[in-house]
Amino acid sequence: MIPYSPPLADMRFALDELAGLPQIAQLPGCEQASADLVDAVLDEAAKLARDVLAPLNDVGDRERARLENGVVRTPSGFKDAYRRYAEGGWNALPFEPEHGGQGLPVALSTAILEMWNSANMGFALCPLLNIGAVELLQAHGSDEQKRIYLAKMVSGEWTGTMNLTEPQAGSDVGALRTRAVKDGDHYRISGQKIFITYGDHDFTANIVHMVLARLPDAPPGTKGISLFLVPKFLVKPDGSPGERNDIRTVSLEHKLGIHASPTCVLAFGDNGGAVGWLVGEENRGIECMFTMMNSARLNVGLQGVAIAERAYQQARDFARQRIQGKPIGAKTALPIVHHPDIRRMLLAMKAQIEAMRGLAYITAGMIDHARHEPQPETRAAAQRRVDLLIPVVKAWSTDLGVEIASLGVQVHGGMGYIEETGAVQHLRDARINPIYEGTNGIQANDLLGRKLMRDRGEAARDFIAEMRLIDRFLEMQRDAAFATIRTHLAPAIGALSSATDWVVDNWDVDPARTIAGAVPYLKLFGTVAGGWVLARAALAAQSRLDRRDGEPGFNAAKISTAAFYAEQSLPPRRRRAGPGGTRRRDDHGVRPRPALGEPVRPDHCDHMVQVANSETALALACELRSSRPDSASGFSLVLDEFVRARVDAQPGTNSGDIELGMGFGDIDLHDAGAFSSHGNRPFVIVGKASGSHDLADIIMQRDQFHGSCTLIAVNWRKPPRPPCLNSRPTGCETVTRKCST
Ligand SMILES: Cc1cc2nc3c(=O)[nH]c(=O)nc-3n(C[C@H](O)[C@H](O)[C@H](O)COP(=O)(O)OP(=O)(O)OC[C@H]3O[C@@H](n4cnc5c(N)ncnc54)[C@H](O)[C@@H]3O)c2cc1C
Repeated sequence: MIPYSPPLADMRFALDELAGLPQIAQLPGCEQASADLVDAVLDEAAKLARDVLAPLNDVGDRERARLENGVVRTPSGFKDAYRRYAEGGWNALPFEPEHGGQGLPVALSTAILEMWNSANMGFALCPLLNIGAVELLQAHGSDEQKRIYLAKMVSGEWTGTMNLTEPQAGSDVGALRTRAVKDGDHYRISGQKIFITYGDHDFTANIVHMVLARLPDAPPGTKGISLFLVPKFLVKPDGSPGERNDIRTVSLEHKLGIHASPTCVLAFGDNGGAVGWLVGEENRGIECMFTMMNSARLNVGLQGVAIAERAYQQARDFARQRIQGKPIGAKTALPIVHHPDIRRMLLAMKAQIEAMRGLAYITAGMIDHARHEPQPETRAAAQRRVDLLIPVVKAWSTDLGVEIASLGVQVHGGMGYIEETGAVQHLRDARINPIYEGTNGIQANDLLGRKLMRDRGEAARDFIAEMRLIDRFLEMQRDAAFATIRTHLAPAIGALSSATDWVVDNWDVDPARTIAGAVPYLKLFGTVAGGWVLARAALAAQSRLDRRDGEPGFNAAKISTAAFYAEQSLPPRRRRAGPGGTRRRDDHGVRPRPALGEPVRPDHCDHMVQVANSETALALACELRSSRPDSASGFSLVLDEFVRARVDAQPGTNSGDIELGMGFGDIDLHDAGAFSSHGNRPFVIVGKASGSHDLADIIMQRDQFHGSCTLIAVNWRKPPRPPCLNSRPTGCETVTRKCST
């Protein structure tokens, strides 16, 4: 058995110092979350996670859920574990007291959900989906529905599921075909749903399916989708399960991971139609379902944290035991944890986990503010922050969760790749997280298309402004680690800020090209927010050290972890070439980079032409594009922001008419657009010499673009300051020529 030890000290630190649990406990309705109660709840949850759920994790992986004679059987021990979980009252933790919930803050229940998922993600998926179903019914259910179903779902006596996906309708939910036909006071549902997590199981006496379906006269797309509550067993007047509804488990999916979780194909209405009840209004089902999806998205993001934590603990323990080779300077062979590269991997895992955990708990704490703050404006502001952060937590944490689980395998060496050690189970289990609950590509689209553009970046800029404030507190610290954090964090926040401006400025011009950068933008967002989270943690730890509060080693580790993350994970600052910057290609064929402020020279690029003005530069770029043999695949023409602004200023043109319009900025901006949309196509950079070398620097740093970068440097007569994208430069010559394709 692979042990799991809930990281209570770190969880408590993140809850108190990052999510602000003590302040949340002052809000009306959250008063019972006293420090003592929080400690007691965390301790008890840790016992269930460590002693009951964690030992079943590899049992579930080996045995898998099975379909026997139309009935799903969960692996040995799971049903009993669920009974202990429900009887312990764990299911009711975050729900409203009027339906039998304990009304504890979401921030606290998030920490507890992390434990369940670290211990046994295959098990935890059942409560995770039930949480979403309960929140959905709390928000949108009729009084009757609440009376019949809510209390039992809150207690865990029954569980809820989410039924969206059909073979032809995955990300495109609007393509779903399951039909609902009115039949008296209810509806008859027929159709097939696939991939339904815990769509059937043997934990509880009833299962309450939340099903999206379409009425016969519904408009096409998502505007014609309605939501129905469809129980596995129809409920008798006394509240107990009665006749079986017309729902059949057709099969279970064979999956890469989470083997214990039954992923069901469900047939509704083989025999005349499953009985269902409308939730909310007809054709407004997708809005209701979003309540469930938002909850599930945060909690799936948390699964990324949870699996990463489990993988980290296992890798750390293995590295302390496995003896292999003598580290430099040692006289004897030592455990591999003494090798610098193993330490690097472990520290990278730990730092990223703490950053992800912090951001997830902060988001959960914001949900508490959005629900309980007395002032409506404060509630609305908190909700805006939640909306902004949820896709980031979901996608950034789950992508990192996979990377970290993979690092866990790497730390084990060959023993990680074979099944016996269990390290690879975490990687297999983690792999689903970037896919379900809206793929990470869909999350990134949501961040750009909805969350950023609905207020033209206002919520994001508020968040960025808040992150910037930390600099003045970092500056006051004496410890050198804080200087390191500052050095990396301030430009990283600047990078996020310019990328945000770029997205907002470009969306109206060319949304298709802009959204090509959605995933890198989201990654940048998460990475920078993670740096800010750890910087906050470091400041809080320093304050604890100053007050002699808590374990000094723990607090000191927080500071060094933040500095490590700042150096290793935050986007690299533009490097200066220094004295070596004028070197020709080195022995590895790496091209020298111009230092900032240094004019670009021919040896910096494959092809360099000095031209007198931007018109000639563009003309030359067009010529190159049509004449070079590799132009068959097309160039990516990258304009620096000065040239671009001038092209945009021309009536009837915009830089989109040219191959690609990009403002120059920093590496993340380019990550966000050009690189992802143009793959390995050759680059032509057009811009003034003193600015475009920044671009050259960026592009030449990227191995995959070596040999594919042509730089056309323009010598401006009067080098102006780079204008921002929206401002129009004056006093310079005008570009009159456009590239033709
Ligand atoms: C183990 C498991 C459990 C699941 N549990 C549930 C559940 O309980 N309930 C439920 O309803 N569903 C569930 N799902 C379904 C899951 O939510 C979908 O698989 C997911 O939404 C993706 O849909 P799809 O598989 O059809 O992929 P597709 O939609 O076909 O996507 C394929 C690829 O195209 C990309 N793509 C598609 N559209 C766009 C776009 N507009 N922009 C950019 N990229 C795009 C996707 O990002 C992805 O990379 C589960 C799936 C699995 C595997």
